[in-house]
Amino acid sequence: MTEDQVLQIFRDHGALLEGHFILSSGLHSDRYIQCALVLQHPRIAERLCSELAAKLRHLDASVVAAPALGGVIVSHEVARALGLRALFAERQEGAMTLRRGFSLAPGEPTLVVEDVITTGGSTRDTMAAVERAGGKVVGVGALIDRSGGTVDFGVPPAALVTLSVQNYDPANCPLCQSGLPAVKPGSRTKK
Ligand SMILES: [Zn+2]
Repeated sequence: MTEDQVLQIFRDHGALLEGHFILSSGLHSDRYIQCALVLQHPRIAERLCSELAAKLRHLDASVVAAPALGGVIVSHEVARALGLRALFAERQEGAMTLRRGFSLAPGEPTLVVEDVITTGGSTRDTMAAVERAGGKVVGVGALIDRSGGTVDFGVPPAALVTLSVQNYDPANCPLCQSGLPAVKPGSRTKK
């Protein structure tokens, strides 16, 4: 699957929006990716994640982990394609943690996957959770890396699509300055 084919799937499902958006980080952007609109279709989720799994297979991991909620389906479907376990980490008092009795063998080779990498923060937090649980992160994967491939996780990365999307501080946002209302995707709140 080419990057264009993957992006077309996102466009076809209204999952790649263009305009003026408030990201969950508080930053503003001219593009917004809502993976849930694609991943709500299990067959498409399976197909995209098996493409991602093919890029990660050579790392010989034995388990996949992802940050909840956004990464849960990706973890599940990548793990299905590779025949591995699928775990997820959750925030507990601010820190990403493996809960629910999930455990890793000492040094267990682990893939950390995400739907979208923006700043890499939740991926890094999940990597830390894996390491605290005794695992060893051997690779990172995402359906879409919207950092333009600029985030260095210190392990091999893989993404189906790499995009360079500008994020703006709201105080210094050219879209705000142009008077275009900012939309918070997933809610009906406008600012
Ligand atoms: Zn703005």
